[in-house]
Amino acid sequence: MNYHQYYPVDVVNGPGTRCTLFVAGCVHQCRGCYNKSTWSLTSGKPFTQEVEDQIIADLQDTRIKRQGLSLSGGDPLHPQNLSAILKLVKRVKTQCPEKDIWVWTGYLLADLTPEQQEVVSYINVLIDGKFVQELYDPALLWRGSSNQVIHKLK
Ligand code: SF4
Repeated sequence: MNYHQYYPVDVVNGPGTRCTLFVAGCVHQCRGCYNKSTWSLTSGKPFTQEVEDQIIADLQDTRIKRQGLSLSGGDPLHPQNLSAILKLVKRVKTQCPEKDIWVWTGYLLADLTPEQQEVVSYINVLIDGKFVQELYDPALLWRGSSNQVIHKLK
């Protein structure tokens, strides 16, 4: 998996103070996408073991308390990203069990493959659906267009 940005302290993408990772790779090609540079799987830089270790260390950092981890992109549920994302979310749930995990995807919860569902079984909140420009509403919290749904899973 490749990623574009990692923010160790973020107050914009999800509730509270969070760690946020924007991964590479998205097939949805939404018109008006705010993040076209992330579409290619080969864009960005490699998500290494060191970056994964840093995320865990940041989530465990007691000086700046994080509420959880946000995973966006690109699409964290792109089939090519699933093994790295599954490894990450399993590790967060084991080593930082009190932290919540929010994931943004262009896929619909109802349409997820068994492999995507396995990742989702470890997370707390899934915001699903493509961005639809006609339904764009800047007043919406945590989503860009009104078709997208915030699924509170845990
Ligand atoms: S799902 Fe997100 S990253 Fe992918 S094309 Fe749509 S808006 Fe862009």
